[in-house]
Amino acid sequence: MSENVQHPALDDTVLVRSHEHSQRYLQSLATRHVGTKRGRDSMMAALEEPLSSLGEDPAQVIDLIAEQVEIGMTDCSSPRYFGFVIGGAHPVALAADWLVSTWDQNAGIHAISPFSAAVEEVAAGWLLDLFGLPTDASVGFVTGGQMANFTCLAAARHHVLRAAGWDVELDGLAGAPRVTVVVSEAAHVTIHVALRYLGFGTRSLVQVAADDQGRMSADDLRKALAAVSGPTIICAQAGNVNSGAFDPLREISEIATAAGAWLHVDGAFGLWATASKELAPLVDGIENADSWSTDAHKWLNVPYDSGVAIVRHAADHRAAMSASAAYLIQTSGAERDAIDWVPELSRRARAIPIYATIRSLGRQGIDDLVTRGCARARQMAAALQGDSGVTLLNEIVLNQALLRFDGSDEVTRRVIAGVQNEGTCWVSGTTWQGRAAMRISVTNWATTERDIALSATAVLKVLGAVRGRRGDVNDA
Ligand SMILES: *Cc1c(COP(=O)(O)O)cnc(C)c1O
Repeated sequence: MSENVQHPALDDTVLVRSHEHSQRYLQSLATRHVGTKRGRDSMMAALEEPLSSLGEDPAQVIDLIAEQVEIGMTDCSSPRYFGFVIGGAHPVALAADWLVSTWDQNAGIHAISPFSAAVEEVAAGWLLDLFGLPTDASVGFVTGGQMANFTCLAAARHHVLRAAGWDVELDGLAGAPRVTVVVSEAAHVTIHVALRYLGFGTRSLVQVAADDQGRMSADDLRKALAAVSGPTIICAQAGNVNSGAFDPLREISEIATAAGAWLHVDGAFGLWATASKELAPLVDGIENADSWSTDAHKWLNVPYDSGVAIVRHAADHRAAMSASAAYLIQTSGAERDAIDWVPELSRRARAIPIYATIRSLGRQGIDDLVTRGCARARQMAAALQGDSGVTLLNEIVLNQALLRFDGSDEVTRRVIAGVQNEGTCWVSGTTWQGRAAMRISVTNWATTERDIALSATAVLKVLGAVRGRRGDVNDA
């Protein structure tokens, strides 16, 4: 390549600007008001324009986006963002992610990027090591927990039907032996959606009861299985999205083995408990499952979108996912074609931030990240329970706390709305066992004890104000 060939993109003004915007934003995160400042109308007014015919100055476009995004979003990366289960991006993960976009590799096939393929291979091995899963399990890097559940359950569908003498990839589901799919009543909605994508309608599932923490009842599972025969898939959970609870995985795995059923574990954030020495008892037996799904964009704190599908039986995983076409240059040797393990064809090299983060944090760093989040969740619950009107609704086994205020749905909802408005921290709400609850999830590497103390003080202040207003109403 001649040295004096100039790439037209080398006018890097917009790149410098976007780096400056990023730096400024990240540096302000610890002190920002956490919460959305504007809604749809304001955002549309700022963003909507007739489609430009001649285009606009790229730097101005980038400036406009940077200015509006900061008032039109909740700062999910804030160390005091406790909504849903959302991890903030670790700096090393973010840095790697920038490079992923810079290189713009299509990580679908080895022929395009031996680098990305090798990164996937190494990152897959490290993940299996961290999670204590079989070293020969196969791994697909997908967009998130939803597609990880889909991928794993597609492998499950292939496996159980193949064992019944049916090739579902060639012959489809019509006329196939009936597959029984067992889910817990506390299963995450993405399990239902994944099963729907796979032709298992929601009403066709066998539902098993869950206890007051959201853990699948092993006894109920046993009873349900006694009534079925033939191809069977069981969906268990590590980390309930509200309570953080784990299904009794050892017992469930023994029941699954005895029934000859495929056991899938949705561990979108809970699978990371396997990386923490302190949390090991929670995940006892998890290694006996047939497939596991998890998110790296949750607890490993890599940017969206990053999920992981892991399957014990690589051949079934590949049979359910692989694609081939005459124009693709696919390998037949040891090289990895990512498309064999995921639903997508073209895709970004999303294993690179995973590789960078694991390599940089190491086993200890990841253990610490996970264990620390749980300690901070307990700290928050304890600080709030200093007020006698605050009740903790779940056993905090992981990083999730469910809190209720003055035994009232109304007070609880008002406190949640008040906290979202106040801006010190951000929490979301849920309904737990029929009662309104504030849901706190600590999933960010950057959350300090001081962040928790500040947040607890803010929540209690909002609670005081809600009580004051109710007092006024009652007096009137
Ligand atoms: C978040 C979550 C999912 C879905 O993951 P996405 O990455 O949002 O698709 C599935 N299951 C559980 C238990 C979760 O917490």
